[in-house]
Amino acid sequence: MDVLRLLADERCVVCAARGMLLCRPCRRALPWLAGPLCHRCGEPAQQERIACPVCERLGRRLDCVRSALRLEGSGRALLHAWKDAARAPVAELAATCLLAVVTRPAVDVIVAVPAAPGRAAWRGIDGPRDLARALGRSWSLPVRDDVLIRIAERPQRGLRAPARRRNAGASFAMAGRITGRALLVDDVMTTGATLGACARQLQAAGAEQVHALTLARVVTGA
Ligand SMILES: [Zn+2]
Ligand SMILES: [Zn+2]
Repeated sequence: MDVLRLLADERCVVCAARGMLLCRPCRRALPWLAGPLCHRCGEPAQQERIACPVCERLGRRLDCVRSALRLEGSGRALLHAWKDAARAPVAELAATCLLAVVTRPAVDVIVAVPAAPGRAAWRGIDGPRDLARALGRSWSLPVRDDVLIRIAERPQRGLRAPARRRNAGASFAMAGRITGRALLVDDVMTTGATLGACARQLQAAGAEQVHALTLARVVTGA
């Protein structure tokens, strides 16, 4: 899959240069999450620390979290372009970015973090679901988009991290059982509250492990 060459008349989603969905200079300049990472949460590892602060914040529900990009600079531009343009090829591009840096996790099923109905941030598409399906095709993994549902949409913006965790915790429910190891897929991880809330639901419904992948994440450096 070379999505970069999909459409010759495309414009780069970051710099608008003609010819590719993501031009080569912009692809090289993306803020890739590289280097030593915490084996569990995927945050850049800080060797002087014994306990990882991001793992402490996430709690024990997520077995492994990985992301392709930092949510900054052209990484943020790519995410915004995906949401603003709402085009399927950008979901493929997001999958390509993840596949470039993340190895296939040892999981049995993929579950997308469900977008809220009518969520204005995505113009008529379900970005995480499209990304989940693209990854499922690449890794020959089934995608379940019927088990995890969003039951409420309360604004997260403006809430501090503990309040975000409580708020997100009440926003998801399971519509069925699930077995084996699950991989949650979302567009971005900020505090990890949404992933944690979804992981709690999956575990309660029978998942043995919960891994997570996001295209981008906020790296706090805390
Ligand atoms: Zn470009
Ligand atoms: Zn960690």
